[in-house]
Amino acid sequence: MEQLEETLGDFAAICPDPPTKRGVCPRCERPNPVCYCGEIVAEPFSIRSHVFMLQHPNEVKRCLRTTKIIELSIPTENYHLYRCKRISERKFPTLFSMLEDNSRESVLVFPSNKAEPLHSLPNDLDSKPYNIVMLDGTWSQAKVLYNSNPVIRSLRCIQLENSERSRYVIRTQPTETCLSTVEAVGLVLSHVERKPEIMDWFTRPLKAICDFQLDNGAVEHQSKEYLITNGLYQKPLNKKIQKSLDLKLKLDIKDLLC
Ligand SMILES: [Zn+2]
Repeated sequence: MEQLEETLGDFAAICPDPPTKRGVCPRCERPNPVCYCGEIVAEPFSIRSHVFMLQHPNEVKRCLRTTKIIELSIPTENYHLYRCKRISERKFPTLFSMLEDNSRESVLVFPSNKAEPLHSLPNDLDSKPYNIVMLDGTWSQAKVLYNSNPVIRSLRCIQLENSERSRYVIRTQPTETCLSTVEAVGLVLSHVERKPEIMDWFTRPLKAICDFQLDNGAVEHQSKEYLITNGLYQKPLNKKIQKSLDLKLKLDIKDLLC
């Protein structure tokens, strides 16, 4: 399974950007010809929630990161980025005190066994403001972050009930309904802040990135779930998935991938 999941990293390592001779935009940090700043909201929009991004150190090495869209769209004081595998109270005392603050509700977006649906979170004006914790990386990196940090595992877990395909079509997602980090945060904020338009504000720049890459020869990626179930997956499959295919079981590839 790990081997199969690691292939996500192979796809993500492909850099579809043009050469950066023409300079990099200081704001979105993308090469100037593919700067998406024109698609970002003109002013950061105010929210009650705080977003905590725990980013796997290897995630930063990738050419396309969607979290910058979140960082540029919400006020600086509402966005907190931690780039490491293990977080400790000694290293990040502010993070720990914010997660333990009883005046706020801290939730982790992760599909664990105990995860509740997003829409079970109250979003009335008198409900507590949220601390939204995200694990940013490939699926296997997110699992490493989850398993390595007891304080994260102890948080109330929520999962998304998304039925749409990701708009981040130039990266292979594990299943038909897996979302990029910016889309996941967009869905959560749209609900808890009662502002459905947030999802559009986040996906507009994402769509611009994908459109540019597709116009310049990048190939739209189908999810691994689609490729495997249609016999199009080119890499070795792990034993569990291969066995299910051999037995012609009505397997739920989704469960094996996520
Ligand atoms: Zn830019």
